[in-house]
Amino acid sequence: MNYLACPKCHEPLQRIDKTYQCVNHHNYDISKRGYVNLLLNPDKAHNNPGDSKESLIARKAFLDQGYYDPILFECTNYIKAHSSQPLQILDLGCGEGYYTYRAKQELGNENTYYGLDISKEAINMATRYDKDIIWMVGNSKNIPVCDHSMDVIMALFTVVNKEELARCLKEDGYIIHVTANRNHLIEIKHLIYDEVKVKSDEHIRLPFNVLESYDFTKKISIPSHEDALNLLKMTPHYYHIKKEKRGILDTLPSLDVTIDLRITVYRP
Ligand SMILES: [Zn+2]
Repeated sequence: MNYLACPKCHEPLQRIDKTYQCVNHHNYDISKRGYVNLLLNPDKAHNNPGDSKESLIARKAFLDQGYYDPILFECTNYIKAHSSQPLQILDLGCGEGYYTYRAKQELGNENTYYGLDISKEAINMATRYDKDIIWMVGNSKNIPVCDHSMDVIMALFTVVNKEELARCLKEDGYIIHVTANRNHLIEIKHLIYDEVKVKSDEHIRLPFNVLESYDFTKKISIPSHEDALNLLKMTPHYYHIKKEKRGILDTLPSLDVTIDLRITVYRP
């Protein structure tokens, strides 16, 4: 049982063979790779929404090594401690799907998992992890799920729309929001920019009840050049580097970085 809804009319979608269909006969084909494209044409604001392919490949290669698993465990441990399964779990802005897939591994098969991202390329990659996750191309401003149908929404490093979060969550549901603090990957900023602009340490707050909110900091050592370069490539900073600094990256033997995040659990 899933709670997909039509992005045009918001009626529930029924799966009929290789298609999802609503009562108003809007049809969405399931791709060969097993995902469904629920992004409406007006939603396609950019030619290439989402991350670049180079960045996605680097991200997958880096995350697959498990360096960021401590962040995932903060989310899954909260869910284990506060919810009884089975749950409807949506990973918003799931990208290439690593966290969705690992959340399923950690929390088990009883729950229904949804991964949503605006990038078709990213969702296409995500299908390789697990065919039993509902992978959707869609817009986080028009989340294609039924009203008050989700128990948990995970939003890691992604832009959220507060009205949509409130609409999609069950009354006792919650969102786990992971955002970067000022010192997150500060070493990379020092490597790339001559001058590091310190942003305000005010983290993005949503106008909901806060169930829990804390800073999560950790040092991680990346012992290989390849992994270090992949981490650089998954950040926007890499694409801002000046030509004369490129050489530093080519010879970077390893990298120690600071993870500095705010983890907040909200209930609308
Ligand atoms: Zn419809």
